[in-house]
Amino acid sequence: KIGNETVKAELGRAAWKLLHTTMAKFPDKPSQDEQTALFSYLHLFARLYPCGECAGHFRQILNKFPPQVSSRSSAAAWACHVHNEVNKSLQKELFDCSNIGDFYDCGCAEEDEEKEK
Ligand code: FAD
Repeated sequence: KIGNETVKAELGRAAWKLLHTTMAKFPDKPSQDEQTALFSYLHLFARLYPCGECAGHFRQILNKFPPQVSSRSSAAAWACHVHNEVNKSLQKELFDCSNIGDFYDCGCAEEDEEKEK
């Protein structure tokens, strides 16, 4: 368990950034294999998240709201929703999930095979 609140918050911001950016890059029409990969990734993320107390809370949220992996937009909306569940429990402001569209950008090419600009 990470004792220092500042470090815990920094880890949280980094983790949310990675999570939301992963969703923003997930395929619009994922294959079955891609859907399974995201579903497993999220469960392993919740299992291995280094702040043990946070991971425990997050696993409860995941049980209540199973990951939506059928498309980019449903995955992004799901992640926004569960982040808001954490925001609620920490008495933080809620994020307007209708604004999630362009908020998270990986700074990378849309297609993996596209050359670096
Ligand atoms: P963060 O919540 O880190 O958000 C970062 C930025 O993301 C915000 O500034 C905003 O621009 C954007 N954002 C906010 N809400 C949303 C949303 N719903 N969707 C998309 N973008 C959004 N901390 C604890 O003290 N106890 C816990 O139990 C705990 N559990 C956590 C579980 C997980 C899985 C993670 C990743 C983090 C957890 N944290 C927990 C950390 C906590 O959620 C915050 O990351 C930390 O407190 C820093 O908060 P912040 O106000 O800087 O913004």
